[in-house]
Amino acid sequence: MPAQIIDGKAEAQKIYADLPARVNAFRERNGRPPGLAVVWVGEDPASQVYVRNKRKKSEELGLASFKHDLPATTSEDEVLTLIERLNQDPAVDGILVQMPLPPQVSEEKIVHAISLDKDVDGFHPENRGRLFSGRPRFVPCTPAGIMTLLQSTGVALRGKKAVVVGRSLLVGKPVAMLLLQDNATVTMCHSRTENLDAECRAADILVVAVGKKSCVLGDWIKPGAVVIDVGINRDESGLCGDVAFEQARERAAFITPVPGGVGPMTIAMLMVNTLKAAEAREEINRS
Ligand code: NDP
Repeated sequence: MPAQIIDGKAEAQKIYADLPARVNAFRERNGRPPGLAVVWVGEDPASQVYVRNKRKKSEELGLASFKHDLPATTSEDEVLTLIERLNQDPAVDGILVQMPLPPQVSEEKIVHAISLDKDVDGFHPENRGRLFSGRPRFVPCTPAGIMTLLQSTGVALRGKKAVVVGRSLLVGKPVAMLLLQDNATVTMCHSRTENLDAECRAADILVVAVGKKSCVLGDWIKPGAVVIDVGINRDESGLCGDVAFEQARERAAFITPVPGGVGPMTIAMLMVNTLKAAEAREEINRS
């Protein structure tokens, strides 16, 4: 029987269903909505789509959306000055700086400058450290979305062999940590891994975040596995993931499609993190 499709759009809708009530309650208590500032520097067309979708969704949910589009020539100091202003702005609860940044602006410095309690992407080194020590403040949005999709299958992670292909700070490493915290036995693979096919064939849970079409072939999937395909690639027929979907679907028990799998969850988790940030700041202001 072909795998059950894990519907990221439907899972994201479930998350959105709970948010307007929380946004309204926050607004009533505080006389203002929770606020998300999205900073975009440059002209990367893929980023433009991501930024637009994030702003659109935050407006739909009734958040205050603060738009900062800066030209590709903006200096690092100018971006840092903006971040400092947003850190001080009481109407801003979450700050998201869309990556990648132009070469003259250090991503590391910018991420470091964002106030810890407004770091809704969870990229600040201290927030990353907290995640790795099992006490996360903000879980980065894509890994958080992946874990929610895994939960939606009802498959228990405890004791299962989970293989994560890709070791980026953005996806692979945090996902591996979260799987470990849920008691899976985790193997991380990357471009130097030998016998990647054998590693994948052993996986009860397979998360692939590489960015190469058909990096994982259908017959590498263990029968009955749960497959989360994070990759976003473009081919002649549109978007596709890293896993050879049609063949993998014949073997897996559950699989995410691309598009419509992990992507919609990333934005949903950003909205959740923004509300969490707003509510946490409110709590501190009250005490
Ligand atoms: P990176 O380029 O930062 O990392 C890719 C990883 O894949 C690296 O660890 C690299 O290994 C590994 N890799 C490359 N080639 C191979 C190979 N042949 N076999 C095994 N491993 C390999 O990418 P990201 O983690 O940022 O993103 C991965 C994909 O996920 C991209 O397609 C991106 O667009 C997508 N993405 C999707 C999101 C969503 O919301 N759906 C959000 C974020 C990302 P090494 O470290 O050795 O170089």
